[in-house]
Amino acid sequence: MMKTETIQLAGDVPGNGIELRVLRFEGKDREATSAYLQSSLHGSELPGQAALHFLIPMLEKAAREGRIAGDITVIPQANPIGSAQWMAHQHIGRFEFFSSTNFNRSFPLLENFDTSSLPAIDGPVPLAERLKAELLRQALPHEIVLDLHCDDESESYLYIHQAFLPEMYDLASALGSTAILSWDSTADAAFEEACAHPVLQLPKTEQKTRAVTTVEFRGLSDVNIDTGKSDAEGLYKFLVHRGVIVDTSIALTVDFNGPVTPLENVEMIRAPQGGMILFHVDIGAQVKAGDKLVTVVTVPGDPAGDIILTAPQAGRVLTRRGHRYTRRGDDLLKLLGSRRSENAKPGSLES
Ligand SMILES: [Zn+2]
Repeated sequence: MMKTETIQLAGDVPGNGIELRVLRFEGKDREATSAYLQSSLHGSELPGQAALHFLIPMLEKAAREGRIAGDITVIPQANPIGSAQWMAHQHIGRFEFFSSTNFNRSFPLLENFDTSSLPAIDGPVPLAERLKAELLRQALPHEIVLDLHCDDESESYLYIHQAFLPEMYDLASALGSTAILSWDSTADAAFEEACAHPVLQLPKTEQKTRAVTTVEFRGLSDVNIDTGKSDAEGLYKFLVHRGVIVDTSIALTVDFNGPVTPLENVEMIRAPQGGMILFHVDIGAQVKAGDKLVTVVTVPGDPAGDIILTAPQAGRVLTRRGHRYTRRGDDLLKLLGSRRSENAKPGSLES
């Protein structure tokens, strides 16, 4: 049966502690693959939380029927700090208020699965660091780690380290992902990288049995009953395929044939000046080099102030920003190219 554990983390000042709710299913088979799933590390990114909301009753049913083979740990709200960050009626869940650090950066990178060097839960370090350490302690004992996020306006896609490809096409197939962004090293230490890092020190054959990813379940507003249920079914199907759950009624066809794009081939279209954003293309659009992507209106009413941004190369529009008012230098759109972007830089695509 499902066990619910509530982990208390003391605040950095008295009276500001948080609670991390951890759901556990114990597998019957010690040899079976285990899985960890978390969502909402960026506070208000909820499509993954919706998926878990519908997945958990499916896992409970499997548990009642004795079909959980490997241990499963689920943290539907992985970031109680970010989830509670509101300012002037707006939610801000990506960066921690105190340090301005992205909640999905600066995780400790461990050389192996020994977590004893991580900050203790009551150690003398800020709460955000203790939370990151706790999430790693929860995740690292599992062979499968799925960190569920979303983009602004986006297709459903995955970040996957090159070492786990093409084996992880099964996840892309189960979730109906339209693209995979493959990475080698980002050095920004996202949760995914921190979970992959010790795995990448293992022999290649053992790496291939693992699955570590950041799932981008579409855009911020794509929080619906229908997509939540279908994403839950996709996750379930993947867990069955990997032997974490036994369900003979499920068969996965691995048929992913979308683009697998190295991070350096992603064209990050950025605003050269601030202003109003008018998009010429929707997500999923296939464009040619030179096609119009975005107009930035710098002087409303004066077309001479318009800046038209075009596609540096042919490709697929994967994401658009959700806002329509930009600052100079801000990201506007991701375009999946087939050759290295002239603007490619090391590290994650976004801050
Ligand atoms: Zn995120």
